[in-house]
Amino acid sequence: MEHFDENTIGKFAQLKTPFFYYDLRILDDTLAVIQQNIKDTPFVVHYAIKANANAKVLTCIRKAGLGIDCVSGNEVKKALESGFQPEEIAFAGVGKTDEEILFGLHKNIFTFNVESLAELKVIDELAGREGKVANIAVRLNPNVNAKTHHYITTGLEENKFGINYWELNTLFELLHQLEHIKLRGLHFHIGSQITDLSVFKTLCNRVNELQGEFKERGIVLEHINVGGVLGVNYDNPDDELIPDFEAFFNVFKQFLKVYPNQEVHFELGRSIVAQCASLISKTLYIKEGIKTNFVILDAGMTELIRPALYQSFHKVENLSRLSNVNDSKYDVVGPICESSDCFGKAIDLPKTSRGDLIAIRTVGAYGEVMSSNYNLREKVATIYRDEI
Ligand SMILES: *Cc1c(COP(=O)(O)O)cnc(C)c1O
Repeated sequence: MEHFDENTIGKFAQLKTPFFYYDLRILDDTLAVIQQNIKDTPFVVHYAIKANANAKVLTCIRKAGLGIDCVSGNEVKKALESGFQPEEIAFAGVGKTDEEILFGLHKNIFTFNVESLAELKVIDELAGREGKVANIAVRLNPNVNAKTHHYITTGLEENKFGINYWELNTLFELLHQLEHIKLRGLHFHIGSQITDLSVFKTLCNRVNELQGEFKERGIVLEHINVGGVLGVNYDNPDDELIPDFEAFFNVFKQFLKVYPNQEVHFELGRSIVAQCASLISKTLYIKEGIKTNFVILDAGMTELIRPALYQSFHKVENLSRLSNVNDSKYDVVGPICESSDCFGKAIDLPKTSRGDLIAIRTVGAYGEVMSSNYNLREKVATIYRDEI
């Protein structure tokens, strides 16, 4: 399958740029591979809605039978409005407000993934006041290094997420005392964009140990949630439009100890949606630089903030000259008044001119959802392959 064919590129020329371009065939194929790999297993996949809350994307995901992982009250609301059932919704996040907790309680969601002892007490108190019992999973910090960018590492003791090992005894006491919570599972999420599968093996071993501690105390867990994390190929998207889910799930099949009747939950965001969208932009100017020349685009960090925020790389392609060789180097930048508004330095491209269409690839995750109107920029359009 080709993400871009000549026909589509021809149509792009008539559209106002920049815009997000979605090819939902890639999403559907990705979902089919996931379903294939989890059938006849105790695995349940939730989609992390924060990666992309586009309505059509959510419809594809709901049709594939995935649950939803939320990190705000509005995400829970959006999931319900998009047709997901309350029992398919998990709610994580370190700073849930009372209002958000009450909303989740009233909707009877599947679980609150509790991130601190303080939050556990508040959820118990609010549930008690409402005459309810809150379903919870506790997020434990497994102290596993995700070997990814430090801004997207979340499973180390120094990170703000989850309950730490030294707090376990207090946790057990609280679980015993608090009457308005029901512990259903354990939750782990160690970071994002992990491509080194050995990290998941380390995580499994750590989860097995921690689960043992609960078992010793006679605590039965209905589910273990091992989080999101699987990375995608940003360097060469066309080589791997669908991540290697088989290898990913195999690590858990092989190394995670699963007790009878227990479910294993995954919360995948990026690996499901990243490759189905590109940001399409037009070259406004070519500007001479000292070392390399600049390609100045009409899209910037307001549409895709990841390069500025995490120094992340997205492949840049000149769609107007796909058959030309990449014999020039450019710094590819946006129009925003920030030096960090740069998609990449010394990028190999064919000789590029004003008016050339440029694609920035792999923006389906943390693209559109993180966009802003800084510099009073307008929200850009979303275009679907089957609608042009
Ligand atoms: C962001 C997040 C995810 C999804 O992470 P991806 O890297 O996009 O798969 C899963 N779980 C939690 C708790 C998250 O915060």
